[in-house]
Amino acid sequence: MKITVSVTIQADDAAPAVVSDVFTFERATLGPASLGLHLNEAKDLLSAVQEKMVDEQVQVALAEAATCPSCGAAHRHKDTRADVVRTLFGVLRLASPRWWHCRCTPASTATFSPLAELLPERTTPELLYLEAKFAGLVSYGTSAKLLAEVLPLGRPLHATAIRLHAQAVAQRLEDELGEEQFSFIDTCPAQRAELPRPDLPIVVGLDGGYVHCAQQRSRRDGWFEVIAGKAMPATGRASCFGFVQTYDTKPKRRLFEALRAQGMAANQQVTFLTDGGEDIRDLPLYLNAQAEHLLDWFHITMRITVMTNMAKSLRLPPPSADPDLELSPETAAELISEVREDLRRLKWFLWHGNVFRALTTVDGLIGDLEILQPDDEREPGKLLTAVHEFDSYLRANAGRIPNYGERHRAGEAISTAFTESAVNQVISKRMVKKQQMRWTPRGAHLLLQIRTRVLNDQLANDFHRWHPGFTHCSPDAEDLADAAQPSHGFFRSPFLRGPAGRTAEPPGGRTVPEGRGRPGSDPGVDRGGPGGGPPGRACPRPRVVCTAEECRGGLNPGASAVAEVLSHHGAPARGAYRGGAHASSGAANSRH
Ligand SMILES: [Zn+2]
Repeated sequence: MKITVSVTIQADDAAPAVVSDVFTFERATLGPASLGLHLNEAKDLLSAVQEKMVDEQVQVALAEAATCPSCGAAHRHKDTRADVVRTLFGVLRLASPRWWHCRCTPASTATFSPLAELLPERTTPELLYLEAKFAGLVSYGTSAKLLAEVLPLGRPLHATAIRLHAQAVAQRLEDELGEEQFSFIDTCPAQRAELPRPDLPIVVGLDGGYVHCAQQRSRRDGWFEVIAGKAMPATGRASCFGFVQTYDTKPKRRLFEALRAQGMAANQQVTFLTDGGEDIRDLPLYLNAQAEHLLDWFHITMRITVMTNMAKSLRLPPPSADPDLELSPETAAELISEVREDLRRLKWFLWHGNVFRALTTVDGLIGDLEILQPDDEREPGKLLTAVHEFDSYLRANAGRIPNYGERHRAGEAISTAFTESAVNQVISKRMVKKQQMRWTPRGAHLLLQIRTRVLNDQLANDFHRWHPGFTHCSPDAEDLADAAQPSHGFFRSPFLRGPAGRTAEPPGGRTVPEGRGRPGSDPGVDRGGPGGGPPGRACPRPRVVCTAEECRGGLNPGASAVAEVLSHHGAPARGAYRGGAHASSGAANSRH
């Protein structure tokens, strides 16, 4: 059997139709492999149709521009150049004539190229869109291979070309971002009082991750930091954002735009949950009049867990040579158990937002460890360093430690384990997965802009805005509509379809340490079903659940979610997570 595909072109209603055969192929007996079109045939067919179609389009366009619009005289021909345009279906070499301007109208140049004016870009928007979209999801090299695999691109598309194109798209987005401002609050309390009642709070998580630096001059600058975040409204889908803080000049504007895109009203409450890192501490300032900035519970518990593990390996000190410093084994054992108990108390005080008692406990810990510490080499020394670090961490963030227990029972956000998932999603999966991936701050920053747009499913909209004729419709659009779940589902990011994790657990499970919990503050009493309210009644407010597909443990305080998430992606145990790096050891810190 011989099959011929022909193209029929009718320039306008009056003109006769022109039929031309563009492609012929043959088929023998029917079998699974011979059924229908093969990819290679489809590619050849598409590029043949493309050429035919483009020829006609170009001829029509040139015919329309051939005469002077004022006097009707034909433009005189100067010369012809070849314009190369990359499309999804092949590289086109278009004969682009240069014509003299008509003398009847003065012009700034002597000649003009009608085709070059109509087609100013060397790549069609749809190809550019797909290049950027793929690059946002997988490496530049893989993007090039994937596109070449399924499309008749013609001349091979190199990874470098994809990188440059994606960066150009990102730069265009960057140029559209408004000016940085010190404050984004432009209403007064009286004006805000007039506004209609806003939605439930938007929860914003901010966290840092690390990527390999391309220009490594010393061991210390092998990494640089990338900030990722996620903004979650009470209803509708979450959106993520990211930036390289050493490169970005407009981080506040970026965050503000992310919130505005979430429909943030001037009188709406915004809860920022961060790891308390110095660099992002000031970011939420003056973004919203009703903003509260809290230290997230996840990071506190992670640090306490690291210290608790160190305390577990504490051993009795060897007999000292100096009889004045001699510590009886009984006293040492007592001190060690005191240290372990203090760490448990510390977590409990912080869960209740009792910073004062927490700091007193830390002081006690330091005292005990100093007595235990014979020299810097052994465990008490390491633990002492960690406790000192935790002390400064608490002091620096004292104003951002709420009563987590109370918030938890009220169904309010207390943790950014979901941001850990944002870090993982925005950074690790694309940028840290392979150890050999190395980045410049600019390259990483621009890629982040593309990646977050892809993950938020906004990139197609940007292309629609730039190119009114752009009709590409993202295939996920419908999925995403389904995924935009109301209320309880709101922490379930539409692009992370893992099972919903458990709700947060207070420290130490449901048991209250003797005489430690404040009256009526037992976090184990009033928790019903996963919704938080009594079983069988719908919870009026959404709760924080970790939904990262990698995070099996939900929001378990102290769960080694970071280690778990990292190991899934082959990221270095030290380095990819700021929290993990701080909490694990001083050595990890020095690498950054
Ligand atoms: Zn003229």
